[in-house]
Amino acid sequence: MSGLAIITEACIDTKDRACVDVCPVQCIYEFDPETNTLFSEVEAGDGIIENSHQPNPAAIAIFGDSTLYVNVDECTSCTACYQPDVCPVGAIYVEEDVPDGSTKAKYNANDPLKGHDHTFFIQHTREVFAD
Ligand code: SF4
Ligand code: SF4
Repeated sequence: MSGLAIITEACIDTKDRACVDVCPVQCIYEFDPETNTLFSEVEAGDGIIENSHQPNPAAIAIFGDSTLYVNVDECTSCTACYQPDVCPVGAIYVEEDVPDGSTKAKYNANDPLKGHDHTFFIQHTREVFAD
């Protein structure tokens, strides 16, 4: 499916959850190390869990709870989270537009990591969900 959302490098240690509040299907997840669970809340920070998944141990070990993860099997490509006024650090890209570090790549205006190759996150967001 085209239009899937991919969260990239700038979310790491930012994680303000603005995207969680605009996602209509609660497919943007956080990792809870205590329960070893990926969970999404009805609204960011409300503690009411809508969905949960088990993480792939090897993949979740890379960034753990320092970033959020889109479950692309659940994303409906609604476009809400990658509108320019949502993520304060421009970390969310459409899958087909995730920049690869080349000079022709188009970066989000607020992305502080312009010039980085973010394509790693396309596969990583798929690998992090074990079920
Ligand atoms: S594109 Fe829509 S459904 Fe997909 S993660 Fe973003 S807000 Fe959620
Ligand atoms: S992707 Fe952006 S809006 Fe979502 S939690 Fe990370 S920094 Fe916040």
